Amino acid sequence: MKICRFNNNRLGVVADGQVLDVTDALGVLPAATYPLPAHDLLIAHLEQVTRRAAELLPGARAYAAEDVEFLSPVANPGKVVAAPVNYVKHLNEARADAQIHFQNQIEEIQRVGLFLKASSSVVGPDAGVTIRHPERRNDHEIELVAVIGKAASKVSAADALDHVAGYAIGLDMTVRGPQERSMRKSIDSYTVVGPWLVTADELADPGGLDFQLTVNGEVRQRANTRDLVLSLPQIIELATQYYTLQPGDLIFTGTPEGVGPVVPGDVMGAQFSGIGKMRVAVR
Ligand code: MN
Repeated sequence: MKICRFNNNRLGVVADGQVLDVTDALGVLPAATYPLPAHDLLIAHLEQVTRRAAELLPGARAYAAEDVEFLSPVANPGKVVAAPVNYVKHLNEARADAQIHFQNQIEEIQRVGLFLKASSSVVGPDAGVTIRHPERRNDHEIELVAVIGKAASKVSAADALDHVAGYAIGLDMTVRGPQERSMRKSIDSYTVVGPWLVTADELADPGGLDFQLTVNGEVRQRANTRDLVLSLPQIIELATQYYTLQPGDLIFTGTPEGVGPVVPGDVMGAQFSGIGKMRVAVR
C-alpha cells in the first residue's frame, strides 16, 4: 500500500494516479497524552491504520494526485539518521572536488559512521526547499529513505528489515562548508521526504532500486541501491549498536555520484523504481 499525508493533514492511499481520502482510519490511533511517545504515532500503529484504510477504500473520496499537496509521510520522526559517502563513486567525486567536502576532509563510512539531521528540517515535496546561505553552494542528494516500523536495538543485519515499515524518496539537502554535517544538513526544509510511504510488503528488496534526480529536466544523479557501500540492513545494524531506533525514525541511506548545486528557481525531479516520483521546487 502507498500511504500519504496530504493537504491539511489528510491521510490518503495512492493508487492509479489518485489519492483516496482515508483520514477516518486515523480513528484507530490511541489518544496521545503528555508526555508524548518518542515515536511517530501513525507509523507505530501502521498495521491497524492500513487495515482500516483498506476497509474505507470503496467509499473514499478520490482526488487526482496532481491536485493535492503532499506532506512528509511521517509527521513526527524522532530521529533522522543519515549515511555519509555511502556510494563508492560519490566517495571518489568528493575526493576529487574540495568544494563537496571542505578541504577534502572525507573518510570512508566504515570509519566515520552515521550522522543525525534535525527532525525540524523534514518537509514534504510540495513544501519545496528554501535556500539559506545563498552565497554558499547548496547541493542536492537523492537517497533511499527507510522508515523504521518497530523499535530496534542491537539488531543484526539479518534481522534488520523486520524493523522497517516502508520506504520513501529522500532529498538530503546540504549547504557545503566547514561545519559539522549535523548543522549544515539540518536547515529548515533541507530534509525532503515523499511523496508517500510504500509499505515494506510491497517493496521486498530495497537493495536493487533504480533511481535518478533531475534539475530543470537535466539528469544529475542516476544509480541503483545495489551499489551502496553499507546496505540498508548494515546501516540499521550499525545504528542500533549505538541507539534505539523508534517507529517513524528515518534512515537516509546515502547519495550516489552526481551531487551538484541548486539555486532558487530550480525544480528537482526525483524518482525511484518501486516508489514513484516527486517534483520539488527550490525557493
Ligand atoms: Mn546524504
